[in-house]
Amino acid sequence: MTEEEPGPLVLVIEDEPQIRRFLRASLPAHGYRLIEAATGSEGLAAAATERPDLVLLDLGLPDTDGLDVISHLREWTEIPILVLTARGRERDKIAVLDAGADDYLTKPFGVGELMARMRVALRRSSRAAEASRPVLAAGLLTVDLAGHRVWLEDKEVKLSVIEFKLLAELARHAGKVLTHRHLLTNVWGPEYLDQTHYLRVYMGHLRHKLEVEPARPRFLLTEPGVGYRLEAGE
Ligand code: CA
Repeated sequence: MTEEEPGPLVLVIEDEPQIRRFLRASLPAHGYRLIEAATGSEGLAAAATERPDLVLLDLGLPDTDGLDVISHLREWTEIPILVLTARGRERDKIAVLDAGADDYLTKPFGVGELMARMRVALRRSSRAAEASRPVLAAGLLTVDLAGHRVWLEDKEVKLSVIEFKLLAELARHAGKVLTHRHLLTNVWGPEYLDQTHYLRVYMGHLRHKLEVEPARPRFLLTEPGVGYRLEAGE
């Protein structure tokens, strides 16, 4: 790795030495550069000075809760945040996503899974950098945000207004899990927070219009108990 382009810079905010050792061994082997912080405040300082491309964040830090670190980062940056957590309960995952993290991995995790999630997060953020583009493509799907039109491969698909809003929200965040709360707030409005059945019904409509086998969706995926994700494709 002498004359090559420097790999993406990853900031690890984690107090457990074993996990840091694991990351130190595995990330550079996959072309990533690494900086480490053992506390939330060190991590926030490093994020501001080093401007990493991605943050790997532990939730149980000695000085602060990882959720507060997410909120502080989101005050000024949209860099991808991948949470490493021992908290596997659904409401913890939801809290992490609602605070603004991109994704989470439950400990213990393998290096293959970590690399895959990091690739998706980085790809999504480079796409988000061009997100003011009016047309989004996710795999076989093309969504024209300004013209309110959708194509599956080359065929135009007619969607209702709500179906379109739901698909557009998922497409703007392709590859990322969006919580029920996020989708209900952004598609229907904050007064609809408890109406999760709306989501089920409209996801069903979208799958019938866009999936070959609606019962076995390829891109409109359910994240059980948490929300939905539009598979970003390659
Ligand atoms: Ca910890």
